[in-house]
Amino acid sequence: MSQTPSESAAARHAQLAAAWQRLQQRVAAACTAADVDPQAVRVIAVTKTFPAADVAHLRELGLVDFGESRVAELVEKASAAAASGPGATWHFVGQLQTNKVRDVARWADVVHSVDRARLVTALDRAATAAGRRIAVLAQVSLDADRGSGRGGVPPEELPELAARIAESKSLDLRGVMAISPRDPQQRPAAFDLLTGLVSQFRSNHPAATWLSAGMSGDLEEAVAAGATHLRVGRDLLGYRPPLG
Ligand SMILES: *Cc1c(COP(=O)(O)O)cnc(C)c1O
Repeated sequence: MSQTPSESAAARHAQLAAAWQRLQQRVAAACTAADVDPQAVRVIAVTKTFPAADVAHLRELGLVDFGESRVAELVEKASAAAASGPGATWHFVGQLQTNKVRDVARWADVVHSVDRARLVTALDRAATAAGRRIAVLAQVSLDADRGSGRGGVPPEELPELAARIAESKSLDLRGVMAISPRDPQQRPAAFDLLTGLVSQFRSNHPAATWLSAGMSGDLEEAVAAGATHLRVGRDLLGYRPPLG
């Protein structure tokens, strides 16, 4: 017996509701363990590869922050969400080519993955042309292997990149973003490095207090390192086939 569309929508809603409840408990436990105020930590639902219907379910459950890593998916889901009412905040978290900044400037409220001067220039120009202000995080690479393909400016170039963003016309520098190493054994050293970089960064940019770090696999470590924004995909939405 197959389900009717409304039965399967109800089943998916219930599944996401249960996952959201478990995730909130997991984040709360991480905050308690790290002696962090839970109010200081936000969860961004990374909905990449999942349909706009899932965004609608999550909005009904009270989530407001959504993340995408590909421009086409950002445009599709942010425009669908806007059509169904205001109040969602869209975070672009993926690597961004300068030839795609127009769509991002139009649909993203926050860009986490700004990692080079040319991108600052292009995104600033596109935001100005669109008449929008965009919140921006400087992405720093914690990978010893520069060719990891996960983006991020080398740590020694973070101050220069942050200064560029701070000088821009339509971008608001909000903080730092990082992706921790895939190998769990490399994470403690990477989070130590990040903590030091963030403390230096904040001495130059005291108002830029966001730290976007932590995903399904490392959110406890990220909370302990002072993350203010967790980007969670699989732990909330379920299994996702690897992106090509
Ligand atoms: C996909 C993605 C996430 C979410 O990862 P999960 O392991 O599914 O929680 C977070 N950040 C970025 C940059 C991503 O591309």
